[in-house]
Amino acid sequence: MTDDLLQRHRAVLPSWISLYYEEPIEIVRGEGRYVFDAHGRRYLDFFGGILTTMVGHAVPEVVEAVSQQASRIIHSSTLYLIEPMVELAERLTERSGIPNAKVFFTTSGTEANDAALLLATTFRRSNQVIAIKNSYHGRSFTQISVTGNRSWSPSSYSGLSVSWLQGGSRLRGPLAGLSDADYLARGKADLEDVLMTTTSGDVAAIIAEPIQGVGGFCLPPDGYFGELQRILAPHGILYISDEVQTGFGRTGEGFWGYESQGVTPDMITFAKGVGNGMALAGVIARGEIMDSLGTNSISTFGGSPVAASAGVATFDYLIKHNLQENARIRGAQLRRGLEEAASHNPTIGEVRGKGLMLGVEFVEGDSKAPAPDLANQALERAKSAGLLIGKGGLSGNVLRIAPPLSVTEEEMTEAVAIFQQVLGGQC
Ligand code: PMP
Repeated sequence: MTDDLLQRHRAVLPSWISLYYEEPIEIVRGEGRYVFDAHGRRYLDFFGGILTTMVGHAVPEVVEAVSQQASRIIHSSTLYLIEPMVELAERLTERSGIPNAKVFFTTSGTEANDAALLLATTFRRSNQVIAIKNSYHGRSFTQISVTGNRSWSPSSYSGLSVSWLQGGSRLRGPLAGLSDADYLARGKADLEDVLMTTTSGDVAAIIAEPIQGVGGFCLPPDGYFGELQRILAPHGILYISDEVQTGFGRTGEGFWGYESQGVTPDMITFAKGVGNGMALAGVIARGEIMDSLGTNSISTFGGSPVAASAGVATFDYLIKHNLQENARIRGAQLRRGLEEAASHNPTIGEVRGKGLMLGVEFVEGDSKAPAPDLANQALERAKSAGLLIGKGGLSGNVLRIAPPLSVTEEEMTEAVAIFQQVLGGQC
């Protein structure tokens, strides 16, 4: 059945939608942190459908909220009042750390970042933006121009004029071997240079992920973006925190990833886990920035009744079960396991990340050259052992591990045992 589906998939879907695994799997059911394929095989889901399944699969509270809403009305229109949309916006603004915050809902992270850049360029009357190398912000015409990763940005032409700051793995390239203090000094010097020479200081915004997701869970030292913001703020340059992967407690340290960075964002974009898998995303912005658009704007499906109901139920579950704290505790358990496995394996260059967002970067010994084949083999072996994880990084040589935030101690113990087997010096 799956073979036939693979052929049909290849015939009618784009070749650049790459499927994981030599023998791609068809996931047909989920329960908690487990998913089941079409043959009934069970896997521990440690990628959560690219971090979209935040509180677990088939969580009764979320399923109930979705089905109750679906049985009442699936879609009305954003032209009318929608209570779950307002409810979710109230929860998000309250938690945002942004004064007088307002929310615009969309259906994808790409569209959320598009909205953020539209707002920033309108508010600041400038088309100049600062972005970080090795980032990923989406697949639209605008977002590929601020996405600093050659495998995801086929063209860089858009209405934006983009200046770049360094970012990405610290195992090679311009950031290789830098201490935290040197990393910080380099970022500040590069930023001063951008403001002085490239852009005459007339910049609308900086857009950055607190931890780069697609880029392979790379992160700057704590407080880094705060230092940059101290240089940017006197110019009125806005700070956009792309929290599509880092939001909602995933890092274990704060509700948003920006909190360990010491920044006060002007805008936050969110997506992925917010609706526990429903197509729900958006931008939270300071009220005067949000309202500066001045024209009509609408997203037909953004924050629709069913998606927003899933969002409210997911948010309440997250808070009720204190999943941020769970991310911190279970993340520490996972990290210990990964570091122990890495200590026996010289092809692992680094274990990094925060909370339940941990990456394992494979390298070719002392040269630290990326080793994507080893990452691939580990991905396949983990799957054979019943564990689904992700892959990323500029060269595809980083394993990305990001289970639902509700993962239990027993499930983590099971996963760590598999990692020991998969990573423990056999690569
Ligand atoms: N920003 C970040 C940080 C992401 O990881 C992604 C998706 N991988 C996006 C934006 C785009 O989100 P979407 O795929 O929902 O458009």
